[in-house]
Amino acid sequence: MIIDARDLPGGDILRADICIVGAGAAGISMALGLADTAVDVLVLESGGLKRDKATQSLYAGAVADQRLHSPPDTYRQRRFGGTTTIWGGRCMPLDAIDFEYRDFMPNSGWPIDASAVLPFYPRANRLCEAGEFSYTQAAAFDRPLRPMIDGFHSPHFTTDTLERFSCPTDFGARYRHRLQAAPNIRVLLHANVTRIRLNAEGNQVQFLDVRTLAGKAMTAMAGQFVLAAGGLEVARLLLASRDVQQNGIGNSRDVVGRYYMCHVAGTIGALTIDRPLGSVWNGYDVSDEGIYCRRRIALTPETQRRQRIGNFIARLHHPRITDPSHRNAILSLLFLAKSVIPYEYGKRLHGDEKANFARWLQHARNLVAGPFDAAEFAWHMLKDRKLATRKFPSIIIKPKANLFSLDFHAEQQPSPGSRVELTSEVDALGMARLRVDWRYTAVDVDTVTRALALLAADIARCGIGAFAYDPAAIEFEMTRYGAYGGHHIGTARMGRDPASSVVDAGCRIHGVGNLSIASAAVFPTSSQANPTLTVVALALRLAASLKSAVSR
Ligand SMILES: Cc1cc2nc3c(=O)[nH]c(=O)nc-3n(C[C@H](O)[C@H](O)[C@H](O)COP(=O)(O)OP(=O)(O)OC[C@H]3O[C@@H](n4cnc5c(N)ncnc54)[C@H](O)[C@@H]3O)c2cc1C
Repeated sequence: MIIDARDLPGGDILRADICIVGAGAAGISMALGLADTAVDVLVLESGGLKRDKATQSLYAGAVADQRLHSPPDTYRQRRFGGTTTIWGGRCMPLDAIDFEYRDFMPNSGWPIDASAVLPFYPRANRLCEAGEFSYTQAAAFDRPLRPMIDGFHSPHFTTDTLERFSCPTDFGARYRHRLQAAPNIRVLLHANVTRIRLNAEGNQVQFLDVRTLAGKAMTAMAGQFVLAAGGLEVARLLLASRDVQQNGIGNSRDVVGRYYMCHVAGTIGALTIDRPLGSVWNGYDVSDEGIYCRRRIALTPETQRRQRIGNFIARLHHPRITDPSHRNAILSLLFLAKSVIPYEYGKRLHGDEKANFARWLQHARNLVAGPFDAAEFAWHMLKDRKLATRKFPSIIIKPKANLFSLDFHAEQQPSPGSRVELTSEVDALGMARLRVDWRYTAVDVDTVTRALALLAADIARCGIGAFAYDPAAIEFEMTRYGAYGGHHIGTARMGRDPASSVVDAGCRIHGVGNLSIASAAVFPTSSQANPTLTVVALALRLAASLKSAVSR
């Protein structure tokens, strides 16, 4: 059942076995994991079925350095479906090494290993509509694929692993009817949780304060509570609930909000492959189930250990769009179409470089020189992306020469100095707003620097071409657009020791028996992988364990 809190009288006491806060990827997956069971589930969702300004502005907050992080009301959506209403759909599991303690990666190590999440990945993959859970080309394709770069053989990198793409599935639109039909699930829209209320001993949640924007107040009571409000908002809710635990729930050791990670990412260099055009494949391979898959150049776990650096992948990429010297009509079309591309996607496509008239004119000239290429691309984007149910995932430019830049995506070191905290400003519901102070470390710069150097050396050794880049520009390029947007990781990290973590291996807050978290907030390290598939897998794992806990 889906109901609207604005239609309730106010003063209501809502009761359930399990109460989930947030209906994004994590909250909806948890609810689906509990659907059609004897467990009574209540999902409290701040937004409605569509985006509305007043609700979205509850996410507004401050950032310490605008060059390094986007405002917190961008790159997240406060509505039913959460941020999956705008996500890109790139899916891949974490690598086994990501769970390990690595002495060269300070603060690394999960209290679980990959085998604890593995059983939940196949269903997570299905919920994300990314097809089979197979992430190597050998497992995903029973036909040989053309090599990604013919002649590239490296002891440090593999081109065998894949990323698979979701539709991208908007979890709200896709699973709304399923949730509506489940007899044991109630989703309450426009229901903002503003505070978590503990008992006097501080070891159990008694109830949640729930408010609508029009001022109705309600109370949610349950045996188990789950925060699935996204990686930043989970920390905000814990920090803002301080009437019993004075520093916020789970925060007696000042860990909540710290270790905040995104990913370090950027585009760099010129990779030239001295081989015929068809010997490099920078596009998608479509699996037999119709899923777009793409190979990447991934640093092997052995190399990470030997080189003592973090996880790293790179993709073949087009030249920088803003620089018209690429003479590419399609890239210039994208530059000129900037105003119709949403902020979250335009930022990395275009950057914040100011366009001057001369530059604009050069782009217009490129466009005029290649009108057929531009028209063909516009048609492809309309047909295969805008109007398609399963969307072509990204901009792939068919190369006219084997010349690419590299788009890298790397693990970020968990560091306590990178954090979110509360400010004295409050939102329309009286809840303190967030301030985001995202920081990167020398370890992050070192990971990217050493990985790129290894790759350049391997390409030269294979005698297939050259990767030219300016090592002095690495730090600038990996922070040119700031932290990778939308990946909010680590603010309520998982661990065995309450002195250095917020939740235990089961995602339950240390010392609070009935409060758990379903979010990338619990990841102790970030991996190279985009987080959502693992968020969904961990949500399903939590649903399974809470189901058996409440049915006992
Ligand atoms: C532009 C963009 C592209 C992305 N692309 C990818 C990608 O390709 N691959 C990938 O893995 N990830 C991607 N992501 C990240 C992905 O969207 C998130 O990892 C995912 O949505 C997180 O799920 P979640 O449920 O934790 O949070 P969300 O999806 O943000 O859901 C949180 C929910 O909680 C609700 N809520 C918040 N506060 C309250 C409250 N106080 N009371 C009640 N409800 C509340 C919100 O309204 C929302 O519905 C992308 C993100 C962006 C912005």
